[in-house]
Amino acid sequence: MRLRNISGSKEIIAQSALVVHEPERAKGKWQDIFGSANPLRIEIGMGKGKFIHEMAAQNPEINYIGIEKYSSVLLRALQKMEETPLSNLLFLRMEAENITEVFERQEVQRIYLNFSDPWPKERHAKRRLPSKEFLERYDRILKKDGTLEFKTDNKELFEFALEQVPLAGWEIVEVSYDLHRDRKMMEGNIMTEYEEKFSSKGNPIYKYIIKRQQ
Ligand code: SAH
Repeated sequence: MRLRNISGSKEIIAQSALVVHEPERAKGKWQDIFGSANPLRIEIGMGKGKFIHEMAAQNPEINYIGIEKYSSVLLRALQKMEETPLSNLLFLRMEAENITEVFERQEVQRIYLNFSDPWPKERHAKRRLPSKEFLERYDRILKKDGTLEFKTDNKELFEFALEQVPLAGWEIVEVSYDLHRDRKMMEGNIMTEYEEKFSSKGNPIYKYIIKRQQ
């Protein structure tokens, strides 16, 4: 998602107390930053932040970090925090490839990927957020029994993501090829911006939950 460059978004983000600047310095210290030992869950590629904002509002006993590479998009998430401030939600403006520089081993309890960019060209497969290259990065920051949840309406990306799971030494916990008709997996489901858009067009939503092979 790339919104037209909103002028001044970089400056606003640079001054925001809701965005952690130099996050490498927070590595291993996220509990201190939040001021609580509550579990930490992150969304990579959060877009405008509807999903993670609602998650954080519903679960005050969990700490959340929303990660987004574009300032113009992240700005929208900051605006939601002005309307409804939450003390358990922070943001990082960064490229997800560098995730292991920001979180210590086993520092994260759950990772969410929602409607990740498909990178349809084969030569860009390594850039896909559910690729085995990214799963190796997640492996380094996620708790032993931690989980990764991925939703998309892109069938090719979902099939690719499913293939990557065993290759990276992970296993499926739950899977749905039509989330919105799956009563069990829909329990507590929070719709993302893209999920609202694409499900209203009639697209089925795919979802998996995965963890490392024991
Ligand atoms: N999760 C949101 C947005 C999906 S669009 C939703 O479901 O509505 C994908 C978002 O991920 C875009 O905003 C894009 O800028 C961001 N993104 C993609 N690749 C990224 C990466 N490598 N690092 C950080 N953010 C990324």
